[in-house]
Amino acid sequence: CGIVGYVGARPVQGLLLAGLEKLEYRGYDSAGISILSGEQVDSVRAVGNLQALRDAVAALPHAAEVPGGAPVAVAEPTTGIGHTRWATHGRVSEENAHPHEDVDGRIHIVVNGIVENYMALKRELADEGVVFTSETDAEVIAHVISRRYDGDLPAAVQAAYGELVGHFAFVAMAADEPGVLVGARRECPLVVGRGDGEQFLASAVPAFLEHTRRVQFIEDGELVVLRPGGVDFMSPDGTPIEREVVEIDWDA
Ligand code: GLU
Repeated sequence: CGIVGYVGARPVQGLLLAGLEKLEYRGYDSAGISILSGEQVDSVRAVGNLQALRDAVAALPHAAEVPGGAPVAVAEPTTGIGHTRWATHGRVSEENAHPHEDVDGRIHIVVNGIVENYMALKRELADEGVVFTSETDAEVIAHVISRRYDGDLPAAVQAAYGELVGHFAFVAMAADEPGVLVGARRECPLVVGRGDGEQFLASAVPAFLEHTRRVQFIEDGELVVLRPGGVDFMSPDGTPIEREVVEIDWDA
């Protein structure tokens, strides 16, 4: 029901949790985050409120960081995605909470909305040997991206997008590509927040408003690629799109 994403130089865990808190008003039954540092991904998911997620996150190796702390000099960009789920397909459980990942743990995704052709895709993927770890419609997106993936996440997401029917917004992250997030939007909200050497992605502006007021709206049927130094918009056929940066003047 709510999505957050961050790429930049700050410790990402506190930013994701704080962003999800700002989206709590949208409602949810479970939540999770995945953090990529170096080429290591840590994923934590929990049923219930964000405090349950915070408790689960406290066990992570990177847990000592200060939530929303000041930028620190790190050698590698930090990259992360977070999600609050409002279950539509599959019961409320830790296994069904997002993020979901592909079989090898290379591709990680968070999804809002519904993948309408998930049954057909699931059958197809199962025939190819994919073992599913959740009952959700959303998990197919990780596997569809994965089978298109050869080291270029934007290209894989672009190819996968064309195979998906439904109304959704999702964000993907690849373990081999720290510092890259790819978002896609079809009839569900997703918006970019532009920082200085860092970029945000969320279902709604309040998730990152305390960090930046500079916003780029993603239009329906567009893809975005976030890197610490900038954001590229493109159509599903890969055509680059120019998008203005808008200064938001309302309060969180
Ligand atoms: N359809 C997905 C699920 O049930 C996403 C629901 C949501 O928007 O939170 O897992």
